[in-house]
Amino acid sequence: MNIKKFTGKINNVVDLSKTAKEISISLSEHIDFIPGSFINVFIDINGEKVRRAYSISSSSMENKNITLTIRLSPTGLLTPLFWNKDMIGENIEMMGPLGLNTVDKMKQDKIYLFAFGVGAGVVKSIADHFFNQKNIKSLIILTGSKSEDEILYKDYFNSLFLDSENMFVDHIVSRIREGSSIKRGYIQDYINEFDFNNSDVYVCGQEKACNDLVEKIKSTNPNDCNYFIEGFH
Ligand SMILES: Cc1cc2nc3c(=O)[nH]c(=O)nc-3n(C[C@H](O)[C@H](O)[C@H](O)COP(=O)(O)OP(=O)(O)OC[C@H]3O[C@@H](n4cnc5c(N)ncnc54)[C@H](O)[C@@H]3O)c2cc1C
Repeated sequence: MNIKKFTGKINNVVDLSKTAKEISISLSEHIDFIPGSFINVFIDINGEKVRRAYSISSSSMENKNITLTIRLSPTGLLTPLFWNKDMIGENIEMMGPLGLNTVDKMKQDKIYLFAFGVGAGVVKSIADHFFNQKNIKSLIILTGSKSEDEILYKDYFNSLFLDSENMFVDHIVSRIREGSSIKRGYIQDYINEFDFNNSDVYVCGQEKACNDLVEKIKSTNPNDCNYFIEGFH
């Protein structure tokens, strides 16, 4: 990928949940990125240029406008800006695309995409890519969230898989409300039925959650299973 510095203007900010927003940025020039990529964003805060990494959550078919999906870190420096101030119209500097865990490295025809929390953003971009690949025999997506209203892009994932025999999506929530039919717990509680032999496994979200899940999969000793782990700190 051709890494470059470029600028853009925030043209929309959508609330996905109480703690997650989708930021839409129109780019000054087009960028070619491979799903799974992230960019570095530079924003001036109190006279200091703050740099943070964000995975691209939009489709790679669209290269003049990208989206980033961000989770509020209440005591953080950058993300609270999006909750405290109208950011639409702000110009931002970026650098990228960057990243090693991109779909071009995923060669198997059996794909698992596991998203913890805001990791659902980049998984959406990756799912969009594989959904259009005719050679994929099995595409399985599980999202893990703290609560039911924190399941990001639920409608998008569910609609993608409505009529697909080889594709499966499910959502797991650690705290469910009484009477809910949604699965309760963590992603790793619901993987026993899966066959990880000859598969590519992509995992994205908080680093600890990613590592715990991958350890659980590894403990089943699958053959020819490749791991792509995008852990956020
Ligand atoms: C490759 C990559 C991709 C990423 N993609 C995404 C993405 O798609 N979406 C997303 O939401 N995030 C993503 N992240 C995380 C993102 O880059 C930021 O780290 C996150 O948004 C927090 O930024 P912030 O400025 O709000 O918080 P920060 O200021 O970075 O603070 C984060 C937390 O650390 C604490 N902290 C800060 N400094 C200290 C200190 N000195 N000692 C102890 N604690 C401290 C803060 O209190 C806060 O709780 C990604 C990270 C990487 C590396």
